[in-house]
Amino acid sequence: MRIITHTCPDCGTVVSANELEANRVMKCPGLDCESVLRFADLPADDREHFLEHRERYRL
Ligand SMILES: [Zn+2]
Repeated sequence: MRIITHTCPDCGTVVSANELEANRVMKCPGLDCESVLRFADLPADDREHFLEHRERYRL
């Protein structure tokens, strides 16, 4: 299975597509990081793949 993650551009914290999809818009979980991460920040290709195989990512 392809692992889809998003890396915060400010602090480098890695967030899973699962978390992003569940929240759509979330504050970066990184300490002292105020960055806002969005599911829409993922490349279109990754988003498509995730949505097509969504059930496999619900582990
Ligand atoms: Zn961050």
